[in-house]
Amino acid sequence: MSGAAPYNWQQNAWQMLMRAMSADRLHHAYLVAGPAGVGKREFAEWFAAALLCSGSAEQSPCGSCQRCALYQAGTHPDINRLDWVDNARVISVEQIRKLTSQLTLTTTYGPYRVAVINKAHSMTRAAANSLLKTLEEPGPGCVLILLADNDAHLPVTIRSRCQRLVLPLPEKSEALEWLESQKVANPAIALEYAHGAPLLARDRSGELDPGAVSEVKSRFFDFLVRDFEPAELAGLTADVMGTRDALTLFLQWTTEHVKSAELSGHDGRTSSNRPRSERVFHCNALERFQDALRLDNPSLKTRTVLEGVLADIRIMRVRTRAETVQ
Ligand SMILES: [Zn+2]
Repeated sequence: MSGAAPYNWQQNAWQMLMRAMSADRLHHAYLVAGPAGVGKREFAEWFAAALLCSGSAEQSPCGSCQRCALYQAGTHPDINRLDWVDNARVISVEQIRKLTSQLTLTTTYGPYRVAVINKAHSMTRAAANSLLKTLEEPGPGCVLILLADNDAHLPVTIRSRCQRLVLPLPEKSEALEWLESQKVANPAIALEYAHGAPLLARDRSGELDPGAVSEVKSRFFDFLVRDFEPAELAGLTADVMGTRDALTLFLQWTTEHVKSAELSGHDGRTSSNRPRSERVFHCNALERFQDALRLDNPSLKTRTVLEGVLADIRIMRVRTRAETVQ
């Protein structure tokens, strides 16, 4: 694996880092952003290992030097990691203060001291403020790696002091190939269920009943183009998945449906003849799913939320038909 990113779809970001490392032009703070399940943590850990290794940038992490051995054993003294403690769902100011004091220590081995802050988007305001000073005046050899699923949640003062590295979702074919290499059953459905994120697809494949998801998908299309009871679809879906997953998939499937209607000309019409009312209906349906995703209230039951959203969409469709008939 030497010289290569942990995953194929991260090669561009990786090569950029390695070039900066060879040229001794590393930034003191990186913000690794990208959707959950795309491999940010593995990327950050690999980068940390490369920084701590005694080999050259071209071959690091070499995996065989003494420093790599310490890293692999989890006992390298020049790396610190932050993450949620006991599912706190935030990174607290106390955690950041402890970390920043550790960053002032001199390194034991190489030139670098590395800090990896996982879920940096969940830093409290006080935590972010406390980190600012270190970002402005990092100690010699300090490299901070912040990971964020949604870096828009980070204060701009933090973002502006980091070099941003975006890790993209892989192409579908690449993701499927990787999932197959990981022996994930029904990779296509698992990937859809994970919204295109391969690691999430692998990790969640165990909680998935692919047959049940396929059934929901086919009933959803029945709902979208014909008549299928919203209450029945909501009940069927709620038995298989939670609110957020359901709404995200509905959004994805509606987009898929619109794309294929545009391409083939729905009901044998060419795309240019697709009635305006039908386009309006699809846009409204997409918006309704997006609104519901923004409001997703954890205290509401999945079935209740879905039933409300689907009933609204059915009314939109009935109106569309009435307009088409007129
Ligand atoms: Zn090494």
